[in-house]
Amino acid sequence: MNEVCKYHPDRKAIVHCYRCNAPLCRECIAYRDGDRYYCKKCFDYILEEEYEKEIEEIKIEVRKKQLLALLLIFGLFLIALEIYSINKNKEYLQKTYPLKREDLIIRQNIKSLVKYITLGENLVKYKDKYGKYPDNLYELTIAFPKIDTIDIISNKGFIYEKKNNGFILSMPKTGSRKEKIRVEKNNIYFEKLIKDR
Ligand SMILES: [Zn+2]
Ligand SMILES: [Zn+2]
Repeated sequence: MNEVCKYHPDRKAIVHCYRCNAPLCRECIAYRDGDRYYCKKCFDYILEEEYEKEIEEIKIEVRKKQLLALLLIFGLFLIALEIYSINKNKEYLQKTYPLKREDLIIRQNIKSLVKYITLGENLVKYKDKYGKYPDNLYELTIAFPKIDTIDIISNKGFIYEKKNNGFILSMPKTGSRKEKIRVEKNNIYFEKLIKDR
């Protein structure tokens, strides 16, 4: 090389910076990656870029976790509500049904809720995997064959609606519950949490 260092005009350059192409002397090589050499400016730039990428990845990861945590909290809340509501009606239920029947109702309701919440969680997981929400529940069951989309109480399918950047998941219209899971971008909204009883 017959060039001089960009930063030391009195020294011979030995390489070019891979990014900005500046001729560099030995002292001005800030970083070497195989046969690529970088000046200090470009190395700082790359470090900053990497750092920002990492921060962005961490942010996305945190948002995903928050979304799943919210769904879980929502599910536990509904289950608590269910148990509370059924306990309140315990006297009535004991008069009306033998005890076993009451246990069955609680179990059925909780199972139904767990299924509902699991479905919501899997829609979020689908988006993590494929970058978008499915167009319909059939698409989801193709990706995750173990997912069941039928409500055990009404024996009807849960209602899924893709909307804007998110979705709305509802209990079957003929079911006894009125909750809706509404997910928009990275926010979850829960509608009509209280059952009309
Ligand atoms: Zn450079
Ligand atoms: Zn130099």
